[in-house]
Amino acid sequence: MIVRREEDTRLAVEGGTPVREKLLPYGRQTIDEDDVAAVVEVLRSDWLTTGPKVGEFEEAFAQRVGAPHAVAFSSGTAALHGAIFAADVGPGDEVVTSPLTFCSTANTVLFQGGTPVFADISQDTMCLEPRLAERALTRHSRALLPVDYAGHAADLGAFRELADRRGLILIEDACHSLGASFEDGPVGSIADLTVFSFHPVKHITTGEGGMVTTGDPELARRMRMFRSHGIDSDPRQRQRTGRWHYEMTELGLNYRLPDLMCALGLSQLRKLGANIARRREIAAAYGERLADIPELRLPGVRPGVDPAWHLYAVRVDGIERETVFRALRAEGIGVNVHYVPVHLHPYYRRRFGYAGGEFPVAEAAYGSLISLPMFHGMTDDDVDDVVQAVRKVVKRYTGRAA
Ligand SMILES: *Cc1c(COP(=O)(O)O)cnc(C)c1O
Repeated sequence: MIVRREEDTRLAVEGGTPVREKLLPYGRQTIDEDDVAAVVEVLRSDWLTTGPKVGEFEEAFAQRVGAPHAVAFSSGTAALHGAIFAADVGPGDEVVTSPLTFCSTANTVLFQGGTPVFADISQDTMCLEPRLAERALTRHSRALLPVDYAGHAADLGAFRELADRRGLILIEDACHSLGASFEDGPVGSIADLTVFSFHPVKHITTGEGGMVTTGDPELARRMRMFRSHGIDSDPRQRQRTGRWHYEMTELGLNYRLPDLMCALGLSQLRKLGANIARRREIAAAYGERLADIPELRLPGVRPGVDPAWHLYAVRVDGIERETVFRALRAEGIGVNVHYVPVHLHPYYRRRFGYAGGEFPVAEAAYGSLISLPMFHGMTDDDVDDVVQAVRKVVKRYTGRAA
């Protein structure tokens, strides 16, 4: 239900009429009838977990992002863990990553006994800054782990060069950037290991799910073992060959993505192009219609980069972020904040002694960031509501006509 009463210009937070009655979320999935049918078909088949849909989804996904191999996992976090395992990160090894990310990027390094080492981000893209990442390298460094913040690829050219020069593995957290490209390559075809998530707020969904792409068949093999207890074969293979014997040769977990979910993934993947196109339209509309507000710093896009717009994160300047956030929520706009910098979480403060002030660019960004709603199912009316609400709120707090 959309309520528009032009005459009531009071903010909803001050008792006025909200732009929307029902909260517009910052992100959500779109599920069509063909998605439902794809899952139902598998429910009636012989294989609920590892069956034919896993390989089909992996192959279609690999082809879509221009990678030789793709390995499915039960979540983006499991996929990150698989990539860290494949990269052979262990006790004593350091992995340089961004503080402005979801905590699982760094947590999976800890689970393998390694140490996440943070370096600050670039002002314009809010992705890990290659020159600062280089300064954070030591003789214990094993991998670089940039994050494609909001869907804008990190500086993959610089990271590729740095990784090659220093003998490091390049792992890209591309949970925000499925469908993005960097220079002439799609995200998924550039790093040694590229990690994706299929959480419902991402570009395609399997409920929970994730994927890692790689050009290296040995890394792919290690990830397949890791996601299935460190065992080299699966029950379906054993049934086919009539053998019961199996061996566990590595320490792994059950991180498998079921056939059910892979069928949904296959169906969703067919819509990725349209989803990205819609997200780009919405980003362009925000860009045009919010550009004249000096209190908002809109996301920058570097030449040669085509972002996938997982988020549309603006920075607020001159008005308290908290004030704008509360006012927009009251207007029915489900704004969010991405992210509390990882090193400032109590666990990281306690374990590593961070006190704040270590990564000034990321911390300042965190203090001013607001993610506006961005998902492919948004209608033009939804976009209008966001723009109207933002202008209404800014007008109230600056006293300027907006
Ligand atoms: C979504 C996300 C993850 C984790 O993915 P899940 O599928 O939720 O486990 C990791 N890193 C980033 C940057 C993400 O956005």
